Amino acid sequence: MIDVKNVYKTFFVPHEVQALHDVSYHINPGEVVVVIGPSGSGKSTFLRCLNRLEKANSGHIMIDGVDILDPKTNINKVRMDVGMVFQSFNLFPHLTVLENVTVGQTSVRKRGKKESAEKAMTLLNKVGIHAKAENYPGQLSGGQMQRVAIARALAMDPKVMLFDEPTSALDPEMVGEVLDVMKALAKEGMTMVVVTHEMGFAREVADQVVFMDEGKIVEVGTPEHFFTNPQNDRTKLFLSQIL
Ligand code: ADP
Ligand code: MG
Repeated sequence: MIDVKNVYKTFFVPHEVQALHDVSYHINPGEVVVVIGPSGSGKSTFLRCLNRLEKANSGHIMIDGVDILDPKTNINKVRMDVGMVFQSFNLFPHLTVLENVTVGQTSVRKRGKKESAEKAMTLLNKVGIHAKAENYPGQLSGGQMQRVAIARALAMDPKVMLFDEPTSALDPEMVGEVLDVMKALAKEGMTMVVVTHEMGFAREVADQVVFMDEGKIVEVGTPEHFFTNPQNDRTKLFLSQIL
């Protein structure tokens, strides 16, 4: 489903940083991959390259057989296929919950209004927030906003879902409700790449865990491997700090 080969990404401003250094990775359909690593290790850049919010400088990224770095590839199609959920929710503040989940369907997916609204309500129901359909994001808790953001991404019928620290901005009591929605999605067979420090989630849901440091994938393995038998010294240090 996702095939990443020899990807490099350098930022030049404010100073030169090699955010991704020769990253290669393969994700099968239905796999859940949790990406961990210290701050600044390139986790967000890796995710953002997968839906071309950032453009890799070199290498190859295939999503379901589509070469997303090919200039001929329709970037809107890539963004529809690869949904993303951010730490900071990024909902449209001037639109209601329902409108947040319909706007992409009507404008990008070219669905009719009625069909879009029906699909939105189904998804809001699925994430347990249909009762707030007419509210504005500012009237919701963080956990509720994040569940709306997940529904909004799902409304585009993505083939892959990317989550960049989806629970990091939440009060502790709201983390569970968002992780539960993600767990349900994983169970349904969604291909997911999740950057998170929630090791309980990794242990329970991840098929593979990827540890990144200084722009490189340093270690890959099952949760079992990471939590019982990590090999790399940097992995061990990182896990000792967060567990
Ligand atoms: P992580 O998500 O693991 O904390 P990031 O992918 O955000 O790491 O960042 C990796 C490196 O790239 C860091 O040194 C960061 O400062 C740099 N970086 C990320 N995004 C940008 C950007 N838009 N412009 C300049 N530098 C960036
Ligand atoms: Mg990040």
